Parts: sequence; C-alpha cells; structure tokens
Amino acid sequence: MTFTAISSNLGYPRIGEKREWKRALESFWKEEITKEQLIKETDKIRLKNLKKQQELGIDLIPVGDFSFYDHVLDTSAMFGVIPERFSYNGGKVDLETYFAIARGTKDAVASEITKWFNTNYHYIVPELEHAQPILTENRPLAFYKEAKEELGIDGKPVILGPITYLSLAKGYKEEEFDELLDVFVPLYLQILEELESAGATWVQIDEPIFGTKLDDAVIQKAKKVYTQFCEAAPKLKLILQTYFEHVINYESIIEFPVAAIGLDFVHGDSLQLIKQFGFPKDKVLAAGIINGRNVWQENIADKLSIIEEIKSITTIQDIILQPSSSLLHVPVTKKLEVDLNPDIKAGLSFADEKLEDITTLTKGCNDGEHSIATKIKTNQEQLARFNSSALRTNDQVRKELQSLDTSDAKRPLPFNQRIKKQQHELKLPLLPTTTIGSLPQTPVVRKTRTKWRKGEISNEKYEQFIKDNIDKWITIQEELELDVLVHGEFERTDMVEYFGEKLNGFEVTAFGWVQSYGSRCVKPPLIFGDVSFNKAMTVKESVYAQSLTEKPVKGMLTGPVTILNWSFVHDDAPRFTIQNQIALALRKELEALEENGIQIIQVDEPALREGLPLDERKWEDYLEAAVYAFGLATSAVKDSTQIHTHMCYSEFHDIYETIDALDADVISIETSRSHGEMVTTFEENTYEKEIGLGVYDIHSPRIPAKSEIIQNINRALQTIPPKQFWINPDCGLKTRNEEETIGALKIMVEAAADIRKEH
Ligand code: GLN
Ligand code: ZN
Repeated sequence: MTFTAISSNLGYPRIGEKREWKRALESFWKEEITKEQLIKETDKIRLKNLKKQQELGIDLIPVGDFSFYDHVLDTSAMFGVIPERFSYNGGKVDLETYFAIARGTKDAVASEITKWFNTNYHYIVPELEHAQPILTENRPLAFYKEAKEELGIDGKPVILGPITYLSLAKGYKEEEFDELLDVFVPLYLQILEELESAGATWVQIDEPIFGTKLDDAVIQKAKKVYTQFCEAAPKLKLILQTYFEHVINYESIIEFPVAAIGLDFVHGDSLQLIKQFGFPKDKVLAAGIINGRNVWQENIADKLSIIEEIKSITTIQDIILQPSSSLLHVPVTKKLEVDLNPDIKAGLSFADEKLEDITTLTKGCNDGEHSIATKIKTNQEQLARFNSSALRTNDQVRKELQSLDTSDAKRPLPFNQRIKKQQHELKLPLLPTTTIGSLPQTPVVRKTRTKWRKGEISNEKYEQFIKDNIDKWITIQEELELDVLVHGEFERTDMVEYFGEKLNGFEVTAFGWVQSYGSRCVKPPLIFGDVSFNKAMTVKESVYAQSLTEKPVKGMLTGPVTILNWSFVHDDAPRFTIQNQIALALRKELEALEENGIQIIQVDEPALREGLPLDERKWEDYLEAAVYAFGLATSAVKDSTQIHTHMCYSEFHDIYETIDALDADVISIETSRSHGEMVTTFEENTYEKEIGLGVYDIHSPRIPAKSEIIQNINRALQTIPPKQFWINPDCGLKTRNEEETIGALKIMVEAAADIRKEH
C-alpha cells in the first residue's frame, strides 16, 4: 500500500479579511441592521471562507467552526445549557438569548468569560447548575449540509468534545463529572448518527484538554465515551483532535478506538512521544505540522523532513497534514499588508499562506519533493531575505541586558517601608477610588485617529484633539471625585500595539487582526528582532494630564509579559530574552515618567496568567521569568513612587505567590465577572500589599446598582483590611460609552463614600 497524505484545516478565522464579521455583529447590536441582514452578511462571510479553502486545495475543510460569538457558547446553546436567569423555554436558542448570555442584559448579568487555554481567545464559561441538557439543534449537521449544498464541499464537521466541554464548565462538583458526562453522551451520539446518515465522512472532535494533566479515572471514562461514539456511528471517521501541547496521557489516549488522532507537532514533544511509545498502525495520524499560533513563514524543506521522520518511526499508512491548531488565532491573509517593510513581509505567513504551505507539503508527500521544487526555492529565498535583514539584531541591547542581574530587578526597600513614603507623598483617603486606565474610545476618538493615520489631519491637530479629550476627562474625573485619575489612553488603539509602534524591533500590520472575545479583535504587533527603547512613549500625555490637576494621575504602561504574550514573537531568540529586552525598554520609560513628576505608575499584566504553559512542569520557569521581567521594568524608580499593576479574567489561586512576588505596591484585579470567586484566593493567604478587586463588570453595558457594588466591596472587606483596599471597576473602560461610564463611576464613588463612613 502506498503512503498517502491528505491536507486538512482545523478551523478558519471567522472575522473576514477586513473584520466584516465584527462590523456586522456590532451593527446588529446597535440596531442598525436587522437580524435577517446579520444572518445574510455572516452567511456570505462564512461561504467565502469555505470557498477560499476549497480553492486553496484543502481536502478536509472544517465546517461548523463558524460562530456568532464563541464556539463554547455555541456548544452550550446546542445543548440547551442556558443559565436560569435568561428566560429560555426550550427549542432552538434564538440569537437574542444567545447574545444575552454573552453580553448581559439590564436584568441579567452575562456569563463569565475566560481565556481559552493559553491563548488570548476568550470563551463563555458554560453554567451547568440546574442544566437539563437536550439537543436543541444539530449544529454540525446544519453546517455540513450547507457546505455540501452551496459549494459541493464534503466538509469535516468540527465539534467541541465532551471531556473538554465539561472540564471548562462550572456549576457542578468534581464527583458529578461522570454522571454529567453520561447525560451529554446520548446528545453527542445523536449528532454523530445524524451526521453519518447525512453522508459525512470525517468528523473532528476537539479535545484540547488532553494537553493538560487529567486523572486516570477521567481518561478511562473518556475511553468508554469514545468507544460509544465509534460504535454508534461506525461509518464515520472520527478524529480525536488535540492541540496547543502534546498529549499528557499519550499511551492511554492513542488506544481510543477512533479513526485518527490529531497531535500538535509544533508545541510540546509529540515527536518524542511517538518515538518512545509508537503510534497505532491502524490509525491515521493527523499531524499539526504548521504553527497555527504564530505568523511566521516556516521552512518547507524542514517540515518535509519532520514528516519523513514521523513516517520512519511509525508504521502509519496515511497521514493528515494540518496546522497545529485552528487558524482562529492568526490573521487572515498577508496579501493586504502592502505597506509593510518587504524584508519583514518575506518572513510572514497568515492563515491563507499557512494553508498554502499545507497543500504544498501534502503534494510533496504524495508526488515527491521534486514536485514542489519551485515552492521550496521561493520559500528559501523569502526566509533568507527575512533572516539576513539588518533590522533584526541589536548587539547593544544584548550587552546591556547581560550586565544586569537579579539585584537590578528588585526594589531596594521592602513594601512596608516603601508604602509609608508613598502615603506621605500621596495622602490618599481610606479606600481610594480609581479606574484601570482607559476611558471611552468613542466613535469620534476612533474616527479622528483613523483620519490622522491616513494623513487627513495634521499631527498638531491630532495632538490637540487628544489633549482636549484628556482635559474633558480630567474635569469629569474631578467632578466624580475619584482619588487617583488617569489620562484615559485616548491616543492608544490598543495597549500592546501602541508600544509596538514605538519600540525598536516591532512592526505593526494593517489588517493583522485576530478575535479576542466576541466581536472584539486585537492586532498583535510583530516582534521580528531584538527589542530596544527608542524614545519616550507615554510621557507627553501623562504629564499633560498631571498638569491639569492636583490629584495624582497614574502613568499607564503595558508590562513586559503582556507585551510579549500579545505579540507575535519570532522564535529564533528565546522568549525570555525578548521579554527582558522589553522590560529594559519599559524601565527607561518608567524613569522618564518619574523624572517628569509622575508619582504613580501602573504596569498592566493582564496576560500573565493566560501565558502559563499548559504543561505544569514549565510553570516555574515561566513565572520566575515573569517576576524577573516585571521587576526589571519597575524597580529603578524611587521608593516613594507607587507601582500599580492590573490583571484580568483569570483564576489566581494557583499563581498567588507570583502575584505577591511581583511586589507591586497596588494590584487591581478583575473580579466581578467571576462572581466573587477571587476573594477566596485572598482568604486563604495573607496578602500584605494594597489591592483593588474590581467592584463592577465593565464588559456589560448595564449600569450596576449601588447595592451591588456595596455588596461586592463588603464581601472583599471581610477578607482584606480596609486600609489595603482600593475601589475600582474590573478593567479599562474603553469599550463603554460616556454615559455608561459616568453613570457607573458615579455610583461606584458613592458606594465608596458610604462605606468609608462606616470605617
Ligand atoms: N490599562 C488598560 C485599560 O484600561 C488595561 C486593559 C486590560 O487590562 N486589558 O484599558
Ligand atoms: Zn483588565
């Protein structure tokens, strides 16, 4: 029998080449278009995406990876898992209810959102309390039929697997896992049976949770479940798909009776595993060979030899070649990047280019290397051009970094002594109120920035516009009687991109968007080489804001770990080296802010938790590096300068020690969307430094009631002494409008005043 390779994709970006998807959703939410228009527009985008993959020559095209918001929420909706606070009476979940769960309404808070594994994608956490799961619609089937009827594509339905789905859900006890699983299994069986009857061949069941450590009992139970799946639909070829990491319980999982197993050969040690334990010869190996998480052109010839190696150590007959994960995490196409430096562009590969590499590799496997000789040659030329670019290395910064050590990454005085000096300077009241940094980025703010970027308005005019906004909001914040003010970040599109545009070693793209949560997309900058400080990045705006008020204005920076995690960083220098280079540049920025009279500087690290490697054995190194980089950035300032940090949407109990070790004088953390679970972390520990646990959710347009805020504060004060506590919203306010922002902050300040009276 000859060896055959089949090309495949695990998921395609939903957002469209120019974020058409986002625009359609937001227009619908603003009631500018009808539901029918939204559906028509998103149908168009989805079919275009399918067609593109068809034209690129992908054999197994994923269907059902489309979403109106999030694929985990889609799964919940499909199973009728709707929290009780949203009135739901069975049947197919309508779009209004679906969006209500994601975004909240005036009567019901939204479901929690949290990071999807170690990515910057956020999913809606399923709430299983009181759930009575039923199959409300066979979603994969509907998308399978659509692709077949509209485009003649025999698609590969993508389903979120039950082990991952349940593991990501909340509202049940650990010991109820098996029982709950048994409730969902028949629903999965029905989906699979119907797909089989409709003529589907391959079905991808995503189980990224297998890249994490699971109890043996869970693995055994999972095996039973997958055996049931295979028996119920024997004609389907099920692909048990893992990604983001190698499979932790490899030996057990490869024995599941599925037709194919999808492994990530880019992240983790899958190659090592197949060397050590082999791969079953009756199964197809679906090899994630092209990185689905970054944007860099890979070496085709090297990839071919990895495939050769896989072939030689296993006895497999068939291989599926695919990206390491869904391409949801990368931008759509580099062809739109017409203004990018050509040396840098030569080194890039977005979703479409990655799929092209997949089809090239597949051809190379099937027809021999000579059949793709021209492609290989072009690939080598492009890589050579990128690698030899002088823009990529900076010896100066490498030397500077080497001259620093741990003592340079620690503040000289311990917290309890620093804080006295800070209190003396700042004279803040008990329970000081503040915000997290950004203030509403209204359409006018965004439009003006776009005009300036296009050269339609002058630098002077734009700067004046930013100043006017700062003026306006310093006045508003003073009227609100907030204690520590912010300049509002009006000059920033995005907290990482802004710094990316100003630091050496970075490049920003025009259309390199990826989905972050719901309709929100981010445009991660590219780190293509050594990073260094160029000139002050934030001093002008902070100093201007401070000149308008007697109250302290916080300087506002993004931390080294977050800048790194939210960028597409090239992997030929170690990540931690680049992280320290960023930290060194920030250190200079902090010094500049301080020299110019800024007394409080916030260094945001919202991405610290999410960047944790899935493999727990790698945690220690990661966290240690994070503490070092944060320290490097923040420790060159005076004792009396107060360092704040901020984090959001995460679990914290497992990184508590790291939070402490960051040694920030004040930390603010998103809390209310995880419904108070955060407080328990601090119950179990004695945290000495100051802390603000967000007292209201900023992701929802709903203005909170004073009683809710008071309740949140009082709950926190049962654990945290008032003299350590700050009062602030969960996160930045850039996505809210002015009315919502002022309304909510007014209530927050009133709540703080009420509570202050009691202490
Ligand atoms: N300072 C940032 C802001 O307010 C923090 C954003 C974040 O935590 N993601 O927008
Ligand atoms: Zn935040």
